[in-house]
Amino acid sequence: MIRYLLSLLAPTLLLSTMATAASAKDGTEEEAHWSIAIHGGAGTIDRDKITPEKDTEIRAALDKALTIGSDILKDGGSAMDAVTATIVSLENDPNFNAGKGAVFTWDKTNELDSSIMDGSDLSAGAVAGINGTKNPILLALAVKDHSPHIMLSGEGANQFSREQGLEQVTPDYYATPHRLQQIEAVLAKEISAADVDYKFGTVGAVAQDRDGNMAAGTSTGGMTGKRWGRIGDSPIIGAGTYADNRSCAISATGSGEYFIRLGIAHEICARIRMRFPEAMKEAQRAVPKDADGNDTYVVHASEFMLSDAEIQQIADDVIAELGALGGDGGIIYATPWGQAGYSFNTAGMYRGRATSEGEQSVAIYGDE
Ligand code: ASP
Repeated sequence: MIRYLLSLLAPTLLLSTMATAASAKDGTEEEAHWSIAIHGGAGTIDRDKITPEKDTEIRAALDKALTIGSDILKDGGSAMDAVTATIVSLENDPNFNAGKGAVFTWDKTNELDSSIMDGSDLSAGAVAGINGTKNPILLALAVKDHSPHIMLSGEGANQFSREQGLEQVTPDYYATPHRLQQIEAVLAKEISAADVDYKFGTVGAVAQDRDGNMAAGTSTGGMTGKRWGRIGDSPIIGAGTYADNRSCAISATGSGEYFIRLGIAHEICARIRMRFPEAMKEAQRAVPKDADGNDTYVVHASEFMLSDAEIQQIADDVIAELGALGGDGGIIYATPWGQAGYSFNTAGMYRGRATSEGEQSVAIYGDE
């Protein structure tokens, strides 16, 4: 709590610890921080377009996924495990455009994209244009852990999935009546999905665990009516997904082409990473001097953080650039200092966050 109050000050000095357990003033051990943020897509999510039943259903699905992830983190599990399990839960829910419920391509097939990144060593795995695997995030993870590569695509990736023994499904597994209706509408009008009134529905999770490790993952069916093997930002490390213990974890959702052009996920992390030493210097300059004009103490990195407002500003600045370019959507973030949050320029974003400070909330509309 002290940390959060202090985070309102800039520059911010921390009295408590960042990631490791520390002794509190009363001599007891303080628990190390953890945090998680999730999304289920951003887009034209207005109150008048969602029935009360759907609203309840979506919130329950988000809360279920968030609880799965936060329970893992609470118990001292890893950010990678929390992100993976959270995304599996969202992929299995037909309300979202990932795994079951993925949107259809122009040819009425499903081509799924997914990626995952471990901020502790910058290892990553991604798959693009796959089908047959029940949970694409598990295939991205297998690429990271069991192949010498970062990204596999199409039939080769499908083959790798079978060789890895991942659960396989028939092509009709992903289909839902709603998604069929959407593709029929796109095909009938011969217009692109970008012109259809829809919400994106991609899923993602970012987390920091009690050991201070960060992870990010994203999974999607892409855009309705996509063709020619189109691949969006979601499986691209640096665009849709990025995690680095030194700065942040990001998962994006929205009009992928724009996210790729700005390298959104990496861009936000890079700005945080570069802002940190600068803010440290500012803090050192603010340290009171003794009678001889020397600093009375040295600001140590482990006692320092960027404030909530600074993190939000960096994320908002990058999303503003996305908007200026013509892109729609948003991101979720987690930082090494326990913050978890969002930034988006659409009417709404399916989202949720939980932290060791007691936060646990889900939201849909922009004004929540
Ligand atoms: N970003 C995804 C894509 O462009 C779509 C989404 O977020 O729903 O494939």
